[in-house]
Amino acid sequence: MLAAVESEDGRRHIKEDVPISTNTRRCSTPAGAAIRTWLTHLVTVAALLLASDALADADLVSRAHGIEAALYGYPQRSLDELGALASRADSASGVERRFVYGLYGLAMVLSGYTGAAAALADRLEAKAKQERDYSDLAVALLIRSSFESFVGDAGKSAALAREARELAAGSGDDFIDYWAAMALGTADRTRGHNEEALASLQNALSFAEKAGNAYRRSSALYQLSVLQIALKNGQESLAASLRAFKDGETANSAYAMANARIAESAVMEFLDRPARELAAMEEALAIARKAQSQVAEARALINLADIRLRRKQFGEALELSRRSLALSDMLADSGLAAASKANTGFALLGLGRIQEGKRLTDEAVTVYERTGATADVAALLGEYGRDLEQLGDYKGALALYHRERRLNDEIALQTRQRALLEVQEKYETERRNREIELLSRENDLKTAELANHALRQRVWWMLAGLFATSFVVVAVLYRKLRITNRLLADKNAELSVQSSRDPLTALYNRRYFQNFMNAEGAQRDRRRREDDSMLQTLLLIDIDHFKETNDRFGHALGDAVLVAVAERLKETLRDTDMIARWGGEEFLVFATTHADRLDEITARILRAVSAKPIALGDKVIRSTVSIGYVPMPLPPSDMPLAWDRALGLVDMALYMAKVNGRNRAYGIRRLVDDEADTIAAAERDLEHAWKAGLVEMTVLYGPSPSSEVSSEAQAIRYNAPDAPLARSAK
Ligand code: GH3
Ligand code: MG
Ligand code: MG
Repeated sequence: MLAAVESEDGRRHIKEDVPISTNTRRCSTPAGAAIRTWLTHLVTVAALLLASDALADADLVSRAHGIEAALYGYPQRSLDELGALASRADSASGVERRFVYGLYGLAMVLSGYTGAAAALADRLEAKAKQERDYSDLAVALLIRSSFESFVGDAGKSAALAREARELAAGSGDDFIDYWAAMALGTADRTRGHNEEALASLQNALSFAEKAGNAYRRSSALYQLSVLQIALKNGQESLAASLRAFKDGETANSAYAMANARIAESAVMEFLDRPARELAAMEEALAIARKAQSQVAEARALINLADIRLRRKQFGEALELSRRSLALSDMLADSGLAAASKANTGFALLGLGRIQEGKRLTDEAVTVYERTGATADVAALLGEYGRDLEQLGDYKGALALYHRERRLNDEIALQTRQRALLEVQEKYETERRNREIELLSRENDLKTAELANHALRQRVWWMLAGLFATSFVVVAVLYRKLRITNRLLADKNAELSVQSSRDPLTALYNRRYFQNFMNAEGAQRDRRRREDDSMLQTLLLIDIDHFKETNDRFGHALGDAVLVAVAERLKETLRDTDMIARWGGEEFLVFATTHADRLDEITARILRAVSAKPIALGDKVIRSTVSIGYVPMPLPPSDMPLAWDRALGLVDMALYMAKVNGRNRAYGIRRLVDDEADTIAAAERDLEHAWKAGLVEMTVLYGPSPSSEVSSEAQAIRYNAPDAPLARSAK
């Protein structure tokens, strides 16, 4: 038994005629006629694509709409009409041209001229690519999708329809939008992708509603009605079929109305309401007959026969099948003919006319097998086998069962392979997408890394710059500081020189000498012990008759004499000896020397000042000095003698040199003992103590200033206190 409406597996029946895509097959058109018709249409298409003179008529579109509504019911007639219309479509706008050519290609497929349809699709595609017109390309793909649906490859049909949908998206072309959605929805429904099919078919319905096209609305609702049975929604299916009928009526399409009733009948079967099932199908038949649509009539008859077969009314089934077979032969529709033959065969088997029945059923199987519609063949074999089994032909039934199982295995394998391919394709796409995403993420990461690196470098450069700047600033500041410090040190040194030196002679001043001697006193003892032969001595030197010099030569020359005397002192003494300007024309010397060289040094001083006159400009000034000196410590004591006490002693010795004739030195050599009274006596009155024999003194004479030639100073030692002055060399 074969029904006209699809069963749940979506593959079983071949007679169902769907809008745009179809399962009706016409592969076995007699060869000569087919080639002739094919050539005619090919030539027409070629001519039309080249022609550009013809002007589009105003009614072109309305005529095409009329043809669209009749296309499935009268494919051959529609093909002829479209052939005539196509010449005018060439000069029409893109939308109109596409509409006419789309219908033309579809009519070729539905009429079985698949070669002509493929050629048209190729030409449209070439033209579309040349002109970069994606909508034209979508039409080419949809013609191919119809062809794939026609030969039973719902998967390919769906893929082509999906591609067409993408290309046409946003084109605003109602027809292509609708066609793509319908083709995709029908193909998905056929291969059991019900959820996707529902979405696409609802889209198709929206496009039809948007265009206000009742025929398209009816076609979409018919498909939805069939789909709702597969989804087990009886009520929705019924509602859709009833609306499909009304819209078919509005569109004045007998084919659509008959289809709506066929769908309603199927819902009634699903809802288990046999009376209405039969009534709806009979109404479909009546509509088809009234409209003289042989295709619709054949479909209704086949479906009625199927109902009768299921109800085991084999006589009625045989009658209906014979009529549908006659119509199918007339239409040269091999698909409808095969279905009719199968039903006839099953009816005959049911009636016990086994040989006849087997022959017809075998013929049907052969046709089905030729189409390569494996699922249809398997379904047919299954039913055939069950019939033979009922007739007791177990051997025949078993053979059919084996064939059916092989086919089913093949289908399962193909399904698995196809599913695998789909999964693989999906996986490949996902993998590629993931790879692209990963690459782009990696790219982002690289970019971020580069930016980060650049930033890091910038920060380093800035830090380096900052460091260099600070370094320069610090260096400049440091240099300034050093200069300032040096200046400060110079200033300090200058100040210290100023504070310690006498400005006229550059000798140490009185204050510095005092400080030095106070500090020196603390160390004197330690040094003595290091070397016994060394001693220190204090000498007080006073220029003789200096007032007179001033008076005679003037104060300025007096200054110059002071400077000259200071120079001669410096030349005579060592650098380590301390020379100070003690008063106006008085100098104080603190020298370290060997004990037995003390007198020699003093004599050298006397000689240095007076031996040579001091020449100042045209003036020649002769000067002498008087000196008082004392060794420290003062023998026999080796106890340190405080320097201020020593100063008191040399002051008295100097006085003695002055009063005894000047230009001489009086040195205290030693005391008789180291009794406190002895030193006290000397401090009280040196001359008296000398005369009393408490003090031993040396007198040294300077060279005579009148003599130009220097002579050795004479030293006379007085051990007796009497007449020391009488023996002085004056
Ligand atoms: P005596 O031999 O006794 O030392 O006689 P004197 O004239 O050298 O001694 P006195 O103390 O009577 O005179 C010292 C003079 O030295 C008085 C003063 O005018 C002079 N005098 C002191 N300081 C300076 C100075 O810096 N420059 C000059 N040109 N004369 C000075
Ligand atoms: Mg003096
Ligand atoms: Mg003097």
